[in-house]
Amino acid sequence: MTEVQFTSLKGGTVALSTDTLTALRPQLRGTLCLKDEAGYDEARTIWNAMIDRRPSAVVRCHGASDVIQAVRLARDNGLLVAVRGGGHNIAGNAVCERGLLIDLSPMRSVRVDPKNRTARVEPGVTLAEFDKEAQTFGLATPLGINSTTGVAGLTLGGGFGWLSRKFGFTVDNLISADVVTADGALVQASAAENSDLFWAIRGGGGNFGVATSFEFKLHPVGPDLTSGLIVHPFARARELLAGYSKVAAAAPDDLTVWVVLRKAPPLPFLPAEVHGKEILVFAVCYAGDPGEAENALAPLRALGEPIADVIGVQPYAAWQSAFDPLLTPGAFNYWKSHNFTALSDGLLDTLVEAVWTLPTGECEIFIAQLGGASSRVAADASAYPHRDANFVMNVHTRWRDRSDEKASIKWARELFAATAPDATGGVYVNFMPEDETDRIAGAYGGNHVRLASLKAKYDPDNLFRLNQNVTPQA
Ligand SMILES: Cc1cc2nc3c(=O)[nH]c(=O)nc-3n(C[C@H](O)[C@H](O)[C@H](O)COP(=O)(O)OP(=O)(O)OC[C@H]3O[C@@H](n4cnc5c(N)ncnc54)[C@H](O)[C@@H]3O)c2cc1C
Repeated sequence: MTEVQFTSLKGGTVALSTDTLTALRPQLRGTLCLKDEAGYDEARTIWNAMIDRRPSAVVRCHGASDVIQAVRLARDNGLLVAVRGGGHNIAGNAVCERGLLIDLSPMRSVRVDPKNRTARVEPGVTLAEFDKEAQTFGLATPLGINSTTGVAGLTLGGGFGWLSRKFGFTVDNLISADVVTADGALVQASAAENSDLFWAIRGGGGNFGVATSFEFKLHPVGPDLTSGLIVHPFARARELLAGYSKVAAAAPDDLTVWVVLRKAPPLPFLPAEVHGKEILVFAVCYAGDPGEAENALAPLRALGEPIADVIGVQPYAAWQSAFDPLLTPGAFNYWKSHNFTALSDGLLDTLVEAVWTLPTGECEIFIAQLGGASSRVAADASAYPHRDANFVMNVHTRWRDRSDEKASIKWARELFAATAPDATGGVYVNFMPEDETDRIAGAYGGNHVRLASLKAKYDPDNLFRLNQNVTPQA
């Protein structure tokens, strides 16, 4: 009889016999993969190539029953556990070294109820899959802007994108979830049932159990709406950003404009001489009637003289994947993020200066516009606390060659430090890299104490610790 070594929750290692592990196989709908077996590498490979961890075993779940078996195995033997949804999180907590990986990526069903405008979504579903199903009926809920992202991790952290100024965060549109808790029980969480757990999973990340199904509210959206890019040369970036700040402050909820500062990729609508040069991009989505978009966009279009204006009426689902080519999996990535209530002159100066020293051609600064409906929710209505963030800056550094790593991370950290005086101190839990354990309090803000006491109720031994972790505090 051979043994498999696991990292123990108590520190050190714990050995399980292969007999114990293989006895699980006939009980699963999905599969158990040990190192180097079929499916193992697929399960442990995630979006950020910086993460290269080798779990001792993987349960590739096909349903809640598989999740329950996996959680019980981990709990009964004190095994380190990681939970993987779409595998997109920058921190890489979806995979563990020498632990048990609960892989939800095979759970891909989406069931839309067009009459009641709701959707039931399994935790391996990507944004593209959800959007395609819902858009068939002209419906959607607010999700993120990169269609290969997982619905599960995005939702549990908060979730925002092009529809958030109109319909709020993803968590504001969650009706209920099924959750396998640390004791291996399957419970429903909603406003009516286990309402404290429902509060906690709407922004508290994966701390409280494994969500095996989500129920969302849907809204009529598109299916065609006005969206696209306005691309400017960087020379007048400072002036454009000041103009943007005013346009954003006056924008209706239907209009969302994000800013991307980067070197121009070789996009077909950009002249060749611009490729590789610094640019400022306004990424625009008008979530209302396309006939009203022209008026709403006029103040933005009055700014500067763009190189390209490729805004038009297109399917919402296509716009949801417009950034995919720039955010493909497999590159090395490191992020730093701040929340801002406003974009001060000093902050804009710092951002413009930083762009002239971008460390690689794929690095970029994203400024997401929030506010609108996403701000008209009380900070303690759900665990997601940052309702004051009108702008979320995400410094994406990205490189392919290991020799660019040091300079990229240094650049991100320096820009983060230089912009800190303008920031609220809060941070979106889903944008935190692996090394930001000192920002946990900032991530959960005024909701941290309640989250710690609910953690003590639902996961007193901190089985679910590979996340932006809330320490149980009775
Ligand atoms: C390129 C890119 C673009 C992004 N754009 C946006 C955006 O526009 N808006 C936005 O809000 N976010 C955005 N994000 C951040 C995204 O929300 C997070 O990365 C999120 O964690 C991804 O979810 P996932 O299921 O793919 O991740 P995973 O890495 O699989 O999961 C992240 C963590 O969530 C927990 N988890 C996942 N599934 C479950 C589950 N079913 N039950 C319990 N715990 C679970 C685990 O702790 C896991 O470590 C983006 C990320 C990337 C990489």
